[in-house]
Order: sequence, then C-alpha cells, then structure tokens
Amino acid sequence: MELRDVAHSMEQWAPAWAAWERDNVGIQIGRVRQRVKRILVTLDVTAKVVDEADRGSFDLIVSHHPLLFHQPKRITDQDVTGRLVLSLAQRNIAVFSMHTNLDAAKGGVSFALAETLGLVDVQFLSPLADSLVKLAVFVPEAHASRVRNALTHAGAGVIGDYSSCSFESTGTGTFQGSGSTSPFVGTPGHVETTNEIRLEMICPKALVAKAVEEMKKVHPCEEVAYDIYPLANPNPNFGMGAIGTLRRSTTLKQFINHTKRSLHAAGVRYAGSLQRTINRVAVCGGSGSDLFAEAERKGADVFVSADVRYHTFQLAEHGTALIDAGHYETEQVILPHIVKRLKQTAKNYGESLTIKTTVHHTNPIHWA
Ligand SMILES: [Zn+2]
Repeated sequence: MELRDVAHSMEQWAPAWAAWERDNVGIQIGRVRQRVKRILVTLDVTAKVVDEADRGSFDLIVSHHPLLFHQPKRITDQDVTGRLVLSLAQRNIAVFSMHTNLDAAKGGVSFALAETLGLVDVQFLSPLADSLVKLAVFVPEAHASRVRNALTHAGAGVIGDYSSCSFESTGTGTFQGSGSTSPFVGTPGHVETTNEIRLEMICPKALVAKAVEEMKKVHPCEEVAYDIYPLANPNPNFGMGAIGTLRRSTTLKQFINHTKRSLHAAGVRYAGSLQRTINRVAVCGGSGSDLFAEAERKGADVFVSADVRYHTFQLAEHGTALIDAGHYETEQVILPHIVKRLKQTAKNYGESLTIKTTVHHTNPIHWA
C-alpha cells in the first residue's frame, strides 16, 4: 500500500474536517506515494518510539498526538521536534496522526474508553452542532443519478450508519437565458419551461464547497441552480465525549477501583461521595473537563476524564461525581482500535501489512 492509501482509509473513520480547527492532523512527514509494509501504532512520537521504528524496519508510525502540533519555524537538531523530524526523514519513516478528529469520531477515543469501562448503550455526550448543511440541486431527470453519485462520492448523503441518502421530487423549472447564453435546453431570449428534479442531500459543512465543485462537473446546465441551507440538526456521526450505562449499579468507591484496574492507572483523582450510586457514566478521553457541565446536564452519575482543574473538582463535590484517571490512561485504550482498523484496511486492499503497537509507555507522568 502507499502512504496516501493508508491516510485515505483512516480518514474514512476520522476525517480531517472533524478535527479542532487549530489541530494539525493527517500526514506529518513522508512522501504520499511511498510504500508502506510495516506500521507502528503509538499515542506519542518520542525518540524511543522512533528508535523502535528504525530497529524494527517500520516505514510508518501512526500516532494519536500529532508530531507537528505547533507549526515549526525551522527544522534543526537544536530542539526535540526538529531532531525527531530529521531522524524520521533520514530513515524514511513516515508519520500519520489522528488527533481531535479521532476524539470526535464514532468508535474513537471516548467510545473506546466507554467500552473499556464496560458501558452499554453508548452515545456521544455532545454531538457536533452546526456542522451540517442541506444541499438542494435542480437537475434534468436524465442526469439526476450522475449528480447524486458525484455528491455521494464527495461525502454528502451520510445519516448515521446510512450512506447515499437523498430525496428527489419532480417539478417544473423556468428560465430565460440572455442573448449570450447557451442553455442546455431551449433558446436564448425565450422563457423556457422544463421538467426537473429537485435532488436534496445532507452534507457536512466542511465538505460542501468540494461537493458543489464535483456536482458542477457532471451537471449539464451552464448555470447550475442549487441551494445550501444551514441545519440545526446535531451530527449523529461526530461529537465529543460519550455517555452510557453500567450493566450493574455500583458505588463510586467500587467504580473508582474498577476504573483503575481497567485503565492500568496507578491512581486517580476524584471528587464526590464514595457511597453514591453509579449507573450512568459519561467519559471523555484526554483533556475533557469542559464537558463536565454537559455530563451533569445529561444526568451522569460520574464523569471520567483527565487534566481536570481544581475548580471543576469543586463543582463535582455535590452533583455529578468526577474522576481524573490520567491523560495517557484514558487515551491509550484507542490503540487496539487503530490496529484493528489498519488490519481491516490491509485486508480490503489485499495487502499483507505488519501492524504493531509500540512496546514503550510514552506517558511522561510518573507517580512518586
Ligand atoms: Zn491527548
């Protein structure tokens, strides 16, 4: 497989448009057409991981945290990132990262965390708002399927687990071209009437410009008539955090022990009464404290996340309980899922790839 094939396949799961706007996801280093045979999966690209990739003849590192999160001004051996970039380039090892786009994806970091903690009926805690539009295009009947296919290919028409979703209604269109036009039907200067289809599809806002461009390529009319409407619908396929229920109610004390065991955490920080009953659990892998209010609003008994601030703990003393189980601990649960997707990709392409998870614990935080 080529690097661009791996990237394309992973972006079907976690598309770059779903990333936080200041994030930097996708191919970080590499030639898009370089061959990939051995992939090393890690949360972080560290010197030890690069060394492991080199010794193991890996040609691609797939990481959660982007190597180039901050835009570098120079690549030299005078700082950590520069040394890693030079080392990777010299060894011909590519890097591909899925970060906040993987946080926002179904089956991404928070879903993996929910699964590891044994939650069922898991849904997004905060579905992505203001991210969808409705695209309606008016097209002669004979060309409707070509236009629908072009829009589908550009990413329109996905609702939940369904794709190619569209609606067609028939009607009558009128138009009058000026003397300089060359209309698909009729004569310039005359009011024409045609039977047309109104084809409508939902589309992620971030993809609509490309969808319109692709639609115009196959649409027969000189001036294509189309409308883009903003939608208030939450996006069922993308969001932040996850919420679900435990199979059996427990106390916060027991749930804390369960969390530590499940995540291999040396310890957790928490707020709330140890005797309180835990049934509904909200989670967000990594720095998710901003979602605490949403967890409370959705009736969670406890919220599990990381990088929690003092004042957020204060809020949790009497309402929804709060557990900070560590950034690394709440995110490493995604690694087996990345490996699984990569294996599926290799299978789809009929390629035999070697895919391994790093042997290094890249967590920089230690307990004393
Ligand atoms: Zn993180």
